[in-house]
Amino acid sequence: MKKARPFIAGNWKMNLGSRAAAALASELLRTLPAAGPVEVAVFPPFTSIPAVAEVLAGSHIAWGGQNLHWENSGAFTGEVAPGFLAELGCRYVIVGHSERRHIFAEPDEVCGRKVAAAMRFGLKPVLCCGETLDERETGQTFAVIERQLAAALPDSGELVIAYEPVWAIGTGRAATPEQVAEVHAWIRNWLRQLRPALSAVRILYGGSVKPDNAASLLSLPDVDGFLVGGASLVAGSFAAIVGCAG
Ligand code: PEP
Repeated sequence: MKKARPFIAGNWKMNLGSRAAAALASELLRTLPAAGPVEVAVFPPFTSIPAVAEVLAGSHIAWGGQNLHWENSGAFTGEVAPGFLAELGCRYVIVGHSERRHIFAEPDEVCGRKVAAAMRFGLKPVLCCGETLDERETGQTFAVIERQLAAALPDSGELVIAYEPVWAIGTGRAATPEQVAEVHAWIRNWLRQLRPALSAVRILYGGSVKPDNAASLLSLPDVDGFLVGGASLVAGSFAAIVGCAG
């Protein structure tokens, strides 16, 4: 099957306040080739989104939120509503990142509500899934991913899935091409059987992607791009990863 347009997304996590985020966005505009075969998006912290949006408006680089609340508004101190992100021109929003699931105890069912809320506002969710090291070592990888996907995926719509093994995130220890290929093929097959209208969605890999492992991972049949953490904070390394996709 022909591959989808590659998508390379940079998750800046809780790094870069407005000034530093705008500076990195400007550097990316200078470093990344103009609109080409690769779709690129960055995910700044909430408070840095307006500054980044100002720099990237009208460019080939999209931006998004790292999280959202599932209600449209209300008494939810400290939360950010989907409409607020849409108003800032976000095209995407990350849902269920492992740091949300594991540090902030976000359950699968909440991820499902967030995916639905994002879609109500025309935001494309980037739904993350992935097993911990303990779950992998005890043979639960596919059961965990199945539970996460089944709880959060609608029957149809525009979205992206990111397979991010928890043990590979921020550790410098990326999953091997064999491990990535096995899980991505499994997800694709699961989609074909249980969410056929989503069977062609892009499936990204995330977990210690660097310029030196990007090309081999991207050559795998069901890898349609990356969700990049650490390496997305440096324009040169993010651009090198994008270059591997184009
Ligand atoms: C991430 O934050 O989603 C991620 C994959 O981080 P890193 O690339 O640093 O492992």
